Amino acid sequence: MFNNDNNNLNSEKNMKLMIISASVLVGLFIYTMIKSDSVMQNGSYFLGIGFILALMVVSFYIQKYKNKIQKIIPDNKFQNKLDENIKQSETSNSENIQSEQSITIEAITSNITFDDVAGISSIKEELEEIVDFLNNPKKYKKYDVVLPKGVLLVGPPGVGKTLIARAVAGEADVPFFYQSGASFVHIYVGMGAKRVKELFAKAKATAPSIIFIDEIDAIGKSRGMGSNDEREATLNELLTQMDGFDAQSDVIVIGATNKIEVLDEALLRAGRFDRRVFLTLPSLQDRTKILKLYVKNKNMNFDIDKLALDTSGFNSAALATLINEALLNMIKRSGTSLLEEDINIAKQKVQFGKKQSNILCADQKEILAIYQASKAFIIKQTVSLFDEGISSDDCLYPSKSQLEQKIKNNLAGSIGLEVIKKEPYAVFESEMQVAQNIAKDIVYKYKMERSENDIIIRLKEELKVQFLENSNEVHKLKDTILKDETIVF
Ligand code: ADP
Repeated sequence: MFNNDNNNLNSEKNMKLMIISASVLVGLFIYTMIKSDSVMQNGSYFLGIGFILALMVVSFYIQKYKNKIQKIIPDNKFQNKLDENIKQSETSNSENIQSEQSITIEAITSNITFDDVAGISSIKEELEEIVDFLNNPKKYKKYDVVLPKGVLLVGPPGVGKTLIARAVAGEADVPFFYQSGASFVHIYVGMGAKRVKELFAKAKATAPSIIFIDEIDAIGKSRGMGSNDEREATLNELLTQMDGFDAQSDVIVIGATNKIEVLDEALLRAGRFDRRVFLTLPSLQDRTKILKLYVKNKNMNFDIDKLALDTSGFNSAALATLINEALLNMIKRSGTSLLEEDINIAKQKVQFGKKQSNILCADQKEILAIYQASKAFIIKQTVSLFDEGISSDDCLYPSKSQLEQKIKNNLAGSIGLEVIKKEPYAVFESEMQVAQNIAKDIVYKYKMERSENDIIIRLKEELKVQFLENSNEVHKLKDTILKDETIVF
């Protein structure tokens, strides 16, 4: 493709040059003939004119039929090779230029506020403190109060992590530096670290400000997981930068991930991303609020509460898309009011088109409900249908039994399900992973036991007994969560 284009350009240039030189030469001949009659007597001059005129005619035809001619002329391998080399050097030049340019990191001004974020009120509350800190730093500094430097938003895709981070920046009216974790992992060694340095320098220069790193796991993966020098260098630079700026520098770093379990422990240590906010797929209440936000100021004639019920398993982004698709359909049929039929058509598109959401059929919903009910039965905390992960106040000096309880909490869902459905199910792999990691710590970090597998097997057996004895209780909790999508303790 590139070779063809290049060939075309070259031959076109040559043709034009030929025509121009031939015209100049003809002009010169005519001028000389007019000035001196004697030259006319020399026949070779006529020959010269004839040759040049022929050249002009040939070039004219070549220009006119160049496409056909190109098809006849066989591929010139040498030319192609040359063009290939030119292409390669041009691409690598442009890549160099691009990566140099992408080092230029700019902030955006966010015009999103908390009003644009529907539902998730507890998340907003958690982040309001940061907004207040950025708005009134003096209020906090007066009492030497330091705020977390880093906030980690943990949750599946499309639940509003980016939106809420932008809303924090919008509410605080501070510059917002958006970077995706993947953009740091360059093929050029040292570029990722350089970029991190540049990002923090810019954010500090425009402080108070917010740095948002989306998909932070792209750089923040545990250093043991598949060695990649470039990623490690970038992660080390991020850690250095986070340690380097003091709490007074008014730069808040917000990271987003859906895989907290793969993050390097160093990132989660105190002074780095020490505040974690968990987001889940929207609950029934939240779905209602999100849907209402998107149909605000629009005429509608359908049951929005029923739609909220029917969209269990949709993420917030899919709800936004659903309403948008429905509105598109309304416009297509020249309507002015959103109807049930628009919603139904939109639902088909969201379900089968973009596959943005994992809509649950009744069977799958029941599996998830048993999982969460079992979890709620063991942890005795409020649990929602889509909750992944268990928030717990980490004890600084945990006893062995406290660590084992944490393992049980994380195994509860899958063991409850196994007991009730009489076979194991794959639900939240991340919770199993957390359980395994704690068992590993018990053995290798704290040397409390000899084998992590023995711990897991023993605790699984204990859980099985508990569930066998209390299956009625779990069934009741399951019915509650199926009805309300949440179990409140
Ligand atoms: P994430 O960063 O978690 O993948 P985003 O923040 O990019 O998700 O959300 C994608 C889109 O979904 C947003 O641009 C917005 O349109 C919609 N959205 C997500 N959460 C909400 C919410 N709580 N209220 C309103 N819209 C939301």
